[in-house]
Formats: sequence, C-alpha cells, structure tokens
Amino acid sequence: MMSLEDMSREGTWFIEFNTPFSYHIRGIKRVLYNGVTKYQRVAIVEFEDLGKALVLDGKTQSTVYDEFIYHESLVHPAMIAHPNPRRVLILGGGEGATAREVLKHRSVEEVVMVDIDDDVIKISRDYLPEMHQGAFDNPKLRLIIGDGRKFIEESKDKFDIIILDLTDPLEGGPSYLLYTVEFYTMIKDRLNDNGLMVTQATSTFYALYTFAAIYRTVASVFPVARAYHTYVPSFDSTWGFVIGSKGLDPVSLTPEEIDSRIKNRINGELRYYEGDIHRVLFTLPRHIRALLENK
Ligand code: SAM
Repeated sequence: MMSLEDMSREGTWFIEFNTPFSYHIRGIKRVLYNGVTKYQRVAIVEFEDLGKALVLDGKTQSTVYDEFIYHESLVHPAMIAHPNPRRVLILGGGEGATAREVLKHRSVEEVVMVDIDDDVIKISRDYLPEMHQGAFDNPKLRLIIGDGRKFIEESKDKFDIIILDLTDPLEGGPSYLLYTVEFYTMIKDRLNDNGLMVTQATSTFYALYTFAAIYRTVASVFPVARAYHTYVPSFDSTWGFVIGSKGLDPVSLTPEEIDSRIKNRINGELRYYEGDIHRVLFTLPRHIRALLENK
C-alpha cells in the first residue's frame, strides 16, 4: 500500500479514498510524474488495468481507459441542446479533453479555457497526448491561467455554453467557491440568451448528498435545471452532472433529434454519447429523484 507522499515507488498499490470509510486499491505499473504545484499534488501514473491517469490530491481525475465516457457526457448534452453554440467557456479541464470534445462542434468559433494550475496543463500536455489530442494547439482555443471565479468576476464576456470541469468542492480546495449560489448567479449573467451551463457534480453513489446539493444550488439560480449521471469505471461509481439553462431543456430532445444534430454538427467520432444514451443519462432512479426534489 502507498500513501500520497509515497507515489514514486513503482510496482505497488494506490489507495483512493471514496469516503473516509471506503476506498479502492489499484495496481500501479509505472509512475511517470509525481510532484506538488502551488495548488495541488499532481501525479501521472499508469495503472495496471486502466492505463495512464491524472491524479490530483489523491483523486483520479481521468484515465485513458474511459475518460471519453466522462468527457463526452460532460460536454455534449449541453452543446447539443443549444441550436448554435459559437462561444464556449471552460473553467478547469486541465487535461484538455473537455476542450477536445467542444472543438468537435463545427459551430464553435472560440473556446476560452481558464485553469488555475499552469503545471497541470504543462504536465497534461507532456504526458497525456491521448487525452488532449492537440486541443491545446487548436487556433480556436484561448488558454488563460487563472482562477475561474476571478475570471467570471472580472470579465464581461458572454458565452453560449459554460462548462465547469473542476475538481470536487472540498473545503479549502481551489474549486470550493465555484459551486455556490453567488457563483452560479454570475455564470448566468455571462450566458447569452438560450445559454446553458454544465458542471461535473461528483459521485451519485459515494457523495449523493453533495450531488443533490449542487443540483439544488443550480436550480435556485436557473429557470431550468437538469441532473444526470452515468457509470464511470475509473471512479468506481456513477458520476453526476448538472445543467443550468436559461430556457432550453435538454430533456425535451428526442433520441432521433439528438442523432441528427450529432451527424450534422459534430466532426469526428463519438465513442459514447448518442440519442439513446442521452435518454439513459437523464433517467435517474427514484431515490435520487426524491432527494433532488427534497422529498
Ligand atoms: N475530471 C475531473 C473530476 O474527476 O472531477 C475534473 C478534471 S480537471 C483535471 C479539474 C481541473 O480544475 C484541474 O486542472 C484544476 O487545476 C482545475 N481547477 C481547480 N480549481 C480551479 C479554479 N478555481 N479555477 C480554475 N481551474 C480550477
């Protein structure tokens, strides 16, 4: 077994705590990078079963095995629900895979990506080319290193879609203040008419109450709020997302309409998202629906 500080030993095991009382253990083949930035501990490891992974503060952010499930589910439901997304803002998204998915949309003219940690970007660029696939060099991408909240407070720019691909809201962590009513109110203000925002919203198994709290916070600000989830093997859990919309409702789209929009608007292949999956994503079980509705 190894602790966070001890991640340089190879041929050993990595423990990831899901809660203080439960964890999973993964075999490590190689450690490619291990260090501490101004904001977080960063490791690039190669797991025996899931391949290369970005690990921040001991939490697996994505693995080459199934990052497409997470990133396609985060990006496409909101993008497809919008008739013509041209300007997109990403807050966080260090690996570059969220930008990669956004850039598949032919309508997109500009993507602004704001991540707080220059080192995470540099390390992802060097070690995770499978994830960004050149997105950092795309001329439509404008990369800004800075705090997403500060950017939103100071910039007057408007966007069609805002994607919050941030680390989980841990007290004292760098993303904590980007899951609040005040922050979502500013986000709404930075969206054009018809605009939508989407945020990753933690595990709907290990952190169900956090997921519900994020949903209710978004729902208190936006006229339309929709929660959804899907199973991500690397997280050993179903993973939640929440959309806040100024009016357009992603749930009203039929699978046929979604497939037709994918065909007409997206360059390149998707490996996960399609019309039928859209319906599955937004089909939450009764106990989660009851919690979201505060019953
Ligand atoms: N896939 C993810 C997960 O499992 O939660 C999130 C991925 S992404 C790597 C998270 C990014 O959010 C990191 O690159 C981190 O530097 C960035 N981040 C954290 N707090 C931030 C803030 N306040 N402003 C901008 N970026 C931030």
